[in-house]
Amino acid sequence: MKYSIALSKSISNISFDFDSDDQYLFKFENVLANYLGENKQVVAVNSGTSAIHLALILAGVTQGDIVLCQSFTFSASANPIVYQKASPIFVDSESQTWNMCPYQLEKAIKKCILNEVKPKAIIAVHLYGMPLKIDQIVNIAKKYKIALIEDAAEALGSSFKGQKCGTFGDFGIISFNENKILTTFGGGALVCETEKQKQRAIFLATQAKENLPYYQHFEVGYNYRMSNVLAFIGISQMEFLDDYLLSRSNMNRFYKSVFKKIKGVSILEEPNNDYFSNHWLSCIIIDPEKAIFSKEELRLAFLKEKIESRPLWKPMHMQPVFENVDFYGTDICQNLFERGLCLPSGSNLVESDKERIKNTINKLL
Ligand SMILES: *Cc1c(COP(=O)(O)O)cnc(C)c1O
Repeated sequence: MKYSIALSKSISNISFDFDSDDQYLFKFENVLANYLGENKQVVAVNSGTSAIHLALILAGVTQGDIVLCQSFTFSASANPIVYQKASPIFVDSESQTWNMCPYQLEKAIKKCILNEVKPKAIIAVHLYGMPLKIDQIVNIAKKYKIALIEDAAEALGSSFKGQKCGTFGDFGIISFNENKILTTFGGGALVCETEKQKQRAIFLATQAKENLPYYQHFEVGYNYRMSNVLAFIGISQMEFLDDYLLSRSNMNRFYKSVFKKIKGVSILEEPNNDYFSNHWLSCIIIDPEKAIFSKEELRLAFLKEKIESRPLWKPMHMQPVFENVDFYGTDICQNLFERGLCLPSGSNLVESDKERIKNTINKLL
């Protein structure tokens, strides 16, 4: 099938030559599956959020179920729980990787079981590309036989003991949104175990159409499939992934050297060599008692120089929309939110940008 669209009246046409309807889509899924390894199946969809929604459906989450979710994350991790009319319970982070705390997770599971409602799924996140405490979280999920959904939206390219993030759980999800390390200008992927799960996910993502010459539906479906044009962009972007990883890690090294001698500032780092972060964003914590400038002073100094920095994600248990939701933990992720800042980390930053960043910080000292 040949697709040809006019981009504008002044630019000549762009043509896609498809042998079959889904040529680029299937190819992108194969490229991703090969990259991730572990014999996984990949379904390309239109966002990371829809991938989480499909993962929850495939995990059997329905009305009234409980899903344990990392509190320190972007709202897209938690919203699909509500789409399924299930109830989230939020879990605090640990201070090493900033991701789901295994101790608080197990505490939450035990409490739920005591109340005779076993949680149906766990959503744990590799935030900012930093692998979560995978061994512990996987073991807890296995011990209690609860489906583990790994939100690797920010973690394409990250790995733990050499295995790619997104392949440890029963399901994994990746985002190709515009701000992520690799973009298709909106898109996502569901990572699952079996061909059967993959076919079920594709069926649900394409309006649950039965395989008949006329339109027949026994179930309510969704319009979640990735478009072929975006899959084409994804395939070409995958060739650059290693370059993107390299420049993100260079930015991270740059920040480590800049902040090394500055008191009260610590940078998010891999706990040991088992962890490999894609350093999607480089993040720092500023201790108000030890540092000579606050998080807000640094942010405003950057802003004055037109350098964008942002506070870390505001935890879900602190969000008005989830104000009546249970939370297991202490003040770890709240402290991260109150003291932390994401620094400019784009793959396209050049030496002169780094100079400007460095000068702005030095002026504060
Ligand atoms: C970006 C993101 C998502 C959602 O991905 P979209 O493609 O934007 O829907 C989910 N979880 C986390 C942690 C994210 O950063």
